[in-house]
Parts: sequence; structure tokens; C-alpha cells
Amino acid sequence: EAKRGGRSTYRFFEASMNEAATRTLKIQHALHEALGADYFSLYFQPKFRGGNGELTGAEALLRLRHPELGLLPPMEFIPIAERSGQIVQIGYWVVRETCRQIRRWKESGLPAIKVAINLSPRQLEQSDLVATILDIVRSEQVPCEQIMFEITETIAMQDAPKTTNMIREFQENNFEIAIDDFGTGYSSLAYLQRFRAKQLKIDRFFTNGLDEYDREGSAIVSAIIKLAHSLEMEVVAEGVETASQLAKLKSMMCDQMQGFLLGKPLTVEEFSTLLHGQKGGNVIMLEKYRASA
Ligand code: C2E
Ligand code: MG
Ligand code: MG
Ligand code: MG
Repeated sequence: EAKRGGRSTYRFFEASMNEAATRTLKIQHALHEALGADYFSLYFQPKFRGGNGELTGAEALLRLRHPELGLLPPMEFIPIAERSGQIVQIGYWVVRETCRQIRRWKESGLPAIKVAINLSPRQLEQSDLVATILDIVRSEQVPCEQIMFEITETIAMQDAPKTTNMIREFQENNFEIAIDDFGTGYSSLAYLQRFRAKQLKIDRFFTNGLDEYDREGSAIVSAIIKLAHSLEMEVVAEGVETASQLAKLKSMMCDQMQGFLLGKPLTVEEFSTLLHGQKGGNVIMLEKYRASA
């Protein structure tokens, strides 16, 4: 097809293919070195209570910082690590590093918050996943209650008894489970009967659809919130970017909010500053939150 546009188009096409392939190779190489060379870091995105804007927790988000490639978002390297299987070891690093950070915050006298960690399909295939995570969390002396695991709807809906059992195993050990990216998995809702997640996270696609005059978008979000509440799940809206989205979500009784409007993924230092503001029970009332009240 590309050839039809002539030789130069073809060359251009070939060149950009090569560029993409070279970048993938570089990322693969970076991934091999990453754990040993300390290329990974965690960012923490704050989550806030719908009613009063109180900080409720954080989601740990992985970044790869490479001397040549710069700071890579997960979209660039997680799929590669999934395919190679490296995500399994990387995932354990994420758990350990999250635990260590929780400990450091505790040792600085900062309030204990819940931190959510993302899990991808390849990780859920490890039959010793829960046992290995338990070893890490115990050796870092962090209460399991402080850790939540986010699994995407696509994983959750898999009818394999193995998946269901693993989710229950997490819950029996007092880890909480959140369903991530809800509404995007083309899934049936049957899985909601098989286990009870603590939280349901509305994908940011739906949050974006909450604009002023989008009646359908609002109807869908409102229905998701009612469904979750009737199943005794908390609802978290992802990707809250505008004051009008925030106001609508609050009026729909959405329990928690997460998004660039309220807080981007923060470095450890930035997040620690935010936590200092909570010390002694001072509830952070963000300016943006007040403005939409
Ligand atoms: P996710 O779990 O759905 O995480 C939310 C993503 O949305 C994050 O992207 C976050 O930065 C972004 N986000 C948050 N608020 C807003 C907003 O208001 N607007 C927009 N446009 N985006 C917003 P990020 O950090 O690039 O992560 C992408 C995905 O990579 C995550 O999606 C998650 O599936 C995966 N991921 C991240 N860290 C890990 C990890 O440690 N392990 C695994 N297995 N996957 C991870
Ligand atoms: Mg997530
Ligand atoms: Mg999500
Ligand atoms: Mg997502």
C-alpha cells in the first residue's frame, strides 16, 4: 500500500517503522537494566473525598527515567514489559517501593493513607502472586489494610475461577480491590456478582462526557454511581479535569475524585508536602474544590 505513493513515500514509511522499532529495542534494553540501575520511580496521584475535598489516598504510578530516553510514561514501557514477562518482577518492585514509602511517611509522623497499586494481566497469572506480595508487605511491616490493588475491568470479568479465587485471596488478607477503567472493557456485568470490590473507578472517558450540555454522558455516569452504590461499592471518578465535571460528580454523590484538576501524579517530595498539610487533622480544602462548592 505504502508503495503506491511512490518510492519516497515508501522510504519514509520504512524509516519511521525503523525508528519505532529502534525505540522499542531501546526500551527493551532499558527494561533489562532498569531494576539494577535504579531507573524506576513512583509518582503518587492524590484522591479526594467527594463531599469535603479531604485527601483520602493515592494511586502509585510507575515511571521509567532513562539517561538517554528521558522520563517514560507507563504506556510506553508497560506493554513491552507485559509481553516479555518482566512486568512480574517490576510489579514486585512497585509493591516493595510503595511499602517503603508508606513506612517513611509513617516515620515522619505523617497521616496514614491508603495507596493503590495497579496490577496487569500477566501478574494475575502468577499463582504465587498473593503469597509473594504478602511476603514483601510483611517484611516491610506495612498493614495490608493500607494497600489496595487496582485491576482492570477486563481482568475482573474473566470467568476463570483462578482469577476469582485470587481476588478473594487478596481480600481474605485484608487487601482491598478496585475495579479500574470501569465501563471500557466491553464486558458483561456478571463479574460484579462474583466478588465485591471496595471501589469502582469510572474511566476518564466517561468523566470527560460530563460536560455542561451532554445529557447522555451525565445519564451514564449517574447510572454507574447508582449501580455501584446499590452494590455497596465506593465510586471514584478518574480524570476529573474541569470544575464543571467536579460539581456534577459531587451532585451525583460520587465518593472520590482523582484528576489533573485536583492533583497530577506527584513526586514523593511533592506528595509529602501535601501530606504535611493533613497533619493534625487539617483537612485540605483545595481552592478548586471550594470554587465548585
Ligand atoms: P490507570 O491505572 O487508569 O491510571 C490513571 C492514568 O490516568 C495515569 O496515567 C494518570 O496519570 C492519568 N490521569 C490521571 N488524572 C488524569 C486527568 O485528569 N487527565 C488525564 N488525561 N489523565 C489523567 P499514567 O500514569 O500514564 O498510567 C497509565 C496506565 O499505566 C495506568 O492507568 C495503569 O494501567 C498503568 N500503570 C501505571 N503504573 C503501573 C504499575 O505500577 N504497574 C502496572 N501493572 N501498571 C501500571
Ligand atoms: Mg489505576
Ligand atoms: Mg484507570
Ligand atoms: Mg486508564
